[in-house]
Amino acid sequence: MVRTRFAPSPTGYLHIGGARTALFSWAYARNQGGKFILRIEDTDLERSSQQSVQAILDGMAWLGLDYDEGPYYQMQRLNRYQEVAEQLLQHNLAYYCYASKEELDILREQQRAAGLKPRYDGRWRDSKQSPPAGVKPVIRLKTPREGHVVFNDLVKGKVAVANHELDDLVLVRSDGTPTYNFGVVLDDLDMGITHVIRGDDHVNNTPRQVNILKALGASIPEYAHVPMILGADGERLSKRHGAVSVTHYRDQGYLPEALINYLARLGWSHGDEEIFSRAQLIDWFDLAAINHSPAKFNPEKLGWLNQQYIKVADDVRLAELVMPFLKARGCDSAGDLDLARIMHLLKERVSTIEELADAAVYFFRPIEPTEELRSRHFKAGIYPVLQHLIGQFAAIEWKREVIHGEIKETVAQHGLKFPNLAMPLRVMVTGEAQTPAIDAVLELLGREETLNRMRQQLN
Ligand code: GLU
Repeated sequence: MVRTRFAPSPTGYLHIGGARTALFSWAYARNQGGKFILRIEDTDLERSSQQSVQAILDGMAWLGLDYDEGPYYQMQRLNRYQEVAEQLLQHNLAYYCYASKEELDILREQQRAAGLKPRYDGRWRDSKQSPPAGVKPVIRLKTPREGHVVFNDLVKGKVAVANHELDDLVLVRSDGTPTYNFGVVLDDLDMGITHVIRGDDHVNNTPRQVNILKALGASIPEYAHVPMILGADGERLSKRHGAVSVTHYRDQGYLPEALINYLARLGWSHGDEEIFSRAQLIDWFDLAAINHSPAKFNPEKLGWLNQQYIKVADDVRLAELVMPFLKARGCDSAGDLDLARIMHLLKERVSTIEELADAAVYFFRPIEPTEELRSRHFKAGIYPVLQHLIGQFAAIEWKREVIHGEIKETVAQHGLKFPNLAMPLRVMVTGEAQTPAIDAVLELLGREETLNRMRQQLN
C-alpha cells in the first residue's frame, strides 16, 4: 500500500511551499487509496516551538489536508535513533568521532587553502587512538568509499553521485539527537513510507539517505523531488513576495478550496484544467505530471481563482465567513438583515471575503456620500422627485420588482430617465455610486431603513 508523509520542521508557520508539498503527498496517497502520515521533525530544539506545531496543524486543518496517522514527533523517538545507531556501531557500519569543532574548523581551512572542497576526512573512521577524556563523540556513518549511489527520482529521473564525493556524515550529534538525515531515514523506514515526496532542496541529501538505508539493509523508497516555487521575479519564494503563511490567506478572506486549487496548479497540471474540485484533484493527481521546472507564484491568479470560488460558494457559508470581517469594520450584528441574501447579491463582484465585507458595510450603517458624489448626482430638480418617491415607497409592497416598477413610474411621470433617479437614490442610501441593482439593495435594506436614510439626506 502507498504510504506518503509530510515532515515539516516546526520552525515557523505553514508556508505556501510547505503546504504545496503537503498537498502533493496527500493527493498522491488519496489517489492511490493509501495512507498519508504527518510527522513533526522537531529535533532542532532551538528553532522548534509548540506554537509552530500548532500553526502547522491549523494550516493543514483549514486546507482540509487530513492525515491518517500522526502527528508523530521525532523528539519522542530518541531512543529508537540511539538503538539503531548502536546496531550500526556494532556492525562496524558507523563509528564514534571525537574530533572537536575547532579541529574540524582547522581541517576545513586547510582544505580550502589547498583548493579542495571542505569535508570530513574520516580521521576517526578506523582509528585505534584512545578517545580523549571528557569529549562527547558524534556517531558517523561509514560511507562506502567506492562506487556510486544511484536512485531513480520520479520527477528528476536518474540521479547518480560518486561515493567519494560524500563524507562520513554525522548520524547522531553529541547531545544524542539524530541529524536530519538519520532521523528522516529511520522514520521513513519505521513508518513504512513508500513514496518520499518533498521539495528539491533536499535532493542533495538523498544520496546520503540512500547510503544510510543500505547500511541498514533496508529497501529504498521511491523519491519525488518537487521543483521549488519562485516569485514573479524568479527568486525563491519568500515573505518579500507577500506569500507568507497559509493562514494569512485565510485571514485575508481566501477560501481554502481556492488555495488548494491554486497550490495544486503550482508545479502540477492536468491538461488545461484550471478550476477543479478536491475530488477531481484526487482523481487526477499523478506524480508523472509534476512539472520539471520551478513554478512561479502568481498572486493575481490566486485572486482570480478565489473570485471564481466565491461566486459559487453557498450564501449561508459566506454569511458566516464574512461576519468576523464585518465585526472588524464595526458591524457587530446583522439584526433584521438577511445576510445570506446580501451575500448572494454581492458575491459576483468581489475576489475575497474581505472585499465582500467592504461591500456589505452600507447595509449595516449609513455611509455619508462624499461632496463629490453629491454634487455629481443631486441636481436641484431631483429633490421633489425624491420626496414624491418617499411617499410612494411608504405604501407599496416591499419587493424588488415592485420597487423597480415604482422607480420606473416615477421617472416616467417626471420626464426623466431611469438613472436620473436611480443614481441619486443609490448615493443617498448607500453612500456609493457603484452597487448591485438599486431595487435589490433596497429590498434587502428594508423599507424603514431606506426611508430613514432618504429623509436624512433630504433634510
Ligand atoms: N523536515 C524537513 C523540512 O522541513 C523535511 C524533509 C523531508 O521531507 O524529508 O524541510
